Amino acid sequence: MQSGSPEDLRRRFRTGRPSIDLVHTGGDAALAQWEIVHEADDLGRLLGVILGLPPLPADQEDLAAMRPLRAALTRIAYDLAEGARPVRIDPPRPGDIGAVNAAAAAPPLVPALGPGGDTSFVKPSTTAALSTLARDAIDLFGGPFAQRIRVCDAENCGLLLVDTSKPGRRRWCSMEVCGNRAKIRSHRSRG
Ligand SMILES: [Zn+2]
Repeated sequence: MQSGSPEDLRRRFRTGRPSIDLVHTGGDAALAQWEIVHEADDLGRLLGVILGLPPLPADQEDLAAMRPLRAALTRIAYDLAEGARPVRIDPPRPGDIGAVNAAAAAPPLVPALGPGGDTSFVKPSTTAALSTLARDAIDLFGGPFAQRIRVCDAENCGLLLVDTSKPGRRRWCSMEVCGNRAKIRSHRSRG
């Protein structure tokens, strides 16, 4: 996983599932080098990016609540995923499922329909956003797409993706970055 260009940052949030997008905001141990949630404001802003919302108000408590949820989602998702990991990621721990269920037990974001067919969320909070992500994870890990979680095929990328395409042949986190690099490489090796 590299970060630098805006495209490198954007591809973290193209996994196909918001719960897996959260995994890509950083983590502990080997994943700490990709951390982008340093302050509570970062959390509010990135949850907005992941869920298509304006930045949410977030405080230190929200930050403390996000970390165990994200760590649990990270361990469970990489445990399920096919593909080579460029860094070591711990296997799931006994408390991980409980951490996901605890976050999901809070009331989730409540959608609202506007008069012009537009949609929004009623008083969105960070706790509700984390609940929505935890519920997405339960749906993902407990459903048929659990078998479609993969690590990007590009060398040294390591990002996850959930292949929801019908043929089930998605290989890269993003066509723009990893897909293109792979194409250029195979073109060169042929020429
Ligand atoms: Zn990739």
